[in-house]
Amino acid sequence: MVYAAKCFICGERAAARVSYLSEFLCSKHFVEYFERRVRAAIEWFRMVEPGDRVAVAVSGGKDSLTTLYLLSKYSGELGYEVFGIAVDEGIAGYREFKLEALRSFTSELGVDLHVVSFKELFGLTLDDAFKALAERGLEIKPCAVCGVFRRYALNKAARELGATKLATGHNLDDEIQVFVMNLLKAHVDGVVREGVVSEPGEEALVPRIKPLYFVPEKEVLVYTLLKGIYTPFVECPYIVYALRHPVRRWLNAVDSEDPGVKYRVLAMKEVFRNVLQPPSKTLGRCELCGEPTSHRVCRACELKTYILGSHNSLKKPAV
Ligand code: SF4
Repeated sequence: MVYAAKCFICGERAAARVSYLSEFLCSKHFVEYFERRVRAAIEWFRMVEPGDRVAVAVSGGKDSLTTLYLLSKYSGELGYEVFGIAVDEGIAGYREFKLEALRSFTSELGVDLHVVSFKELFGLTLDDAFKALAERGLEIKPCAVCGVFRRYALNKAARELGATKLATGHNLDDEIQVFVMNLLKAHVDGVVREGVVSEPGEEALVPRIKPLYFVPEKEVLVYTLLKGIYTPFVECPYIVYALRHPVRRWLNAVDSEDPGVKYRVLAMKEVFRNVLQPPSKTLGRCELCGEPTSHRVCRACELKTYILGSHNSLKKPAV
């Protein structure tokens, strides 16, 4: 990824082009620019405070590894602790490779890693869930199950491990893809649900922070390449069922014609969040598992019950 162009700051050979600035940067200045932006977001939004215990949700992909790396880098100076939580969904041919790389990354970084699995929490792997759902015509897609189970698993593990913040590696592209998907599904709750930091809420919900919220995916990729942050190139086999896939391609195509459009979509998301106030929901406890929920039974228990077919009612849960 070395361009013939020159860095606009020092004149050295360029390593990356920041398209919305229409400028090239060498590797040194790109890394500085990238890190400065992430740190500025962390400080501006007060994502962390001295004494915090920050759990980083690490999937082993480039975004979560970068989040863990940077949060760990600033932890001494900003006075908080960091550790990683990985979720093993039970996706054969994918998760084991990511976990292996993740273990070596965290051990080199000197950061503790805790692994929680769908199998232990829900009694089934995502592969099991996929088989059961496929037999019923795949009305519920694997990513929907994965998303609900993962959110549940991360919050529960973070809380039980004493975390005061839960950081995720969502970047700008992730945020606008979810925003567009929520618009397409007319999910108003989803549109307004989460910004760069989660609203203060129930004690049992660990507050979420997203240090890469304003950083485009491409820039995270360049950063990991320049910093030698390695992730194995394996893709989840269920990605083909995700609505995110075509939405992502479409947004990339529009952005290549009109650089900067992704920032405008993100800005629209914030406008929507301000106009459409999140509905105030009182959280109670799930009757089956005791985790926080605004329903009688939480989404994870509903899905698990539906997939295992262990309940009289096999009504399809809304996901
Ligand atoms: Fe889970 Fe879907 Fe991502 Fe695979 S692609 S890890 S099923 S959310």
